[in-house]
Amino acid sequence: MPTQWYNIVPDLPAPPPPPLHPGTLEPAGPDDFAPLFPMALIEQEVSAERYIDIPGGVLDIYRLWRPSPLFRAHRLERLLDTPARIYYKYEGVSPAGSHKPNTAVPQAYYNNAEGITKLTTETGAGQWGSSLAFATAQYGMECEVWQVAASYRTKPYRRTMMEVWGATVHPSPSEVTEYGRAILAEDPDHPGSLGIAISEAVAMAVADPSTRYALGSVLNHVLMHQTIIGEEALLQLAKVGETPDVLVGCTGGGSNFGGLAFPFLREKMEGRMNPTIRCVEPAACPSLTKGEYRYDFGDTAGMTPLMKMHTLGHSFIPDPIHAGGLRYHGMSPLVSHIYELGLAEAISIPQVECFTAALNFAKTEGIVPAPEPTHAIAAAVREALACRESGEEKVILTALCGHGHLDLAAYEKFLAGEMVDYDLSDEAVAAAMAEVPVIAG
Ligand SMILES: *Cc1c(COP(=O)(O)O)cnc(C)c1O
Repeated sequence: MPTQWYNIVPDLPAPPPPPLHPGTLEPAGPDDFAPLFPMALIEQEVSAERYIDIPGGVLDIYRLWRPSPLFRAHRLERLLDTPARIYYKYEGVSPAGSHKPNTAVPQAYYNNAEGITKLTTETGAGQWGSSLAFATAQYGMECEVWQVAASYRTKPYRRTMMEVWGATVHPSPSEVTEYGRAILAEDPDHPGSLGIAISEAVAMAVADPSTRYALGSVLNHVLMHQTIIGEEALLQLAKVGETPDVLVGCTGGGSNFGGLAFPFLREKMEGRMNPTIRCVEPAACPSLTKGEYRYDFGDTAGMTPLMKMHTLGHSFIPDPIHAGGLRYHGMSPLVSHIYELGLAEAISIPQVECFTAALNFAKTEGIVPAPEPTHAIAAAVREALACRESGEEKVILTALCGHGHLDLAAYEKFLAGEMVDYDLSDEAVAAAMAEVPVIAG
């Protein structure tokens, strides 16, 4: 198991644009983030070190499930009748069933080390909330979670899982915060969104000096913690003498993609391999392929620093696709920057194609994927079928970043023929983009 995380920022040809303070529009400094995050994570967020040692107290917990397995999808390859070789790194073996504990554990560790006793956060499908609930339990900390109301109602087992690990869970919008109450006053049945839930969790953290906020994706330090995935995959592929020709990963906020891709991008920039690196996003929430690259808020209320990223507008509420973890209006500033530099490509895929691929995957490889990585699988299948046409023996690598055992309602819909693809409404995007602040440069 690797003992360091990889920070890609110093290896990039240009640094990513800094986050801005929403009032002054000056680059946000450590003081602006101090009410939200512990100093150790703020330092990692702006670090110029290429490698950061993983603390022993984090490695001990990682060892519960790491290293995670890398599988070759022999049986899927046979079904597709493709000469391509498909490998997938499986993160569903973690306690919470996804890649998210890779960052939840160090975030809880560093907060605990600085005397913080409680973390707040938002969760969409419940993957991040359950990961943070697991991590805080390891360090005897409290955890309070705002779960997007639509999934709070439809995914009761994720909530129970968070509660098993000792967390308190609220539907968002909630009666607990002023912002939540204002939204409920207008629409008592509001389905919520990740952006709204972030606003609520942030508001509660800044109000209490012994509480901080934890974010499960998007930020530099989160993507860095996830590079354990790619570092392990590099070692595992080397053992079987393979290098990838194509790497595909699903992107919500960009953390499982960045975690797998960045170590391979380092190898590519240093000339040791030359994989095509591709982000895969849902057609209903395509921030990279349909959004604009500009400064926007990370949350709906406009409380966070402004980040330069591909965005559909912070007030954009995506259609209720089953991949809740991909329903975010923005993209990680680091993944956005890398995409702008031309170091990664992006495509979007509608959910019916994704679940069709997922069923073929489950029937052959046995694992039922979470709705989010069905996008990565569908992209790998597209690539493998192209190889069948061209006869190319490409090596395809992807991350199966979570299992779908608590997402069976989505499969139920699909099997009943009731899953639909949504047309992205250009008007809805235009309306949300009109609310994005206009900032020179
Ligand atoms: C949260 C989540 C995602 C989306 O987040 P990224 O930061 O883009 O990885 C994808 N897949 C699973 C299983 C998740 O839990």
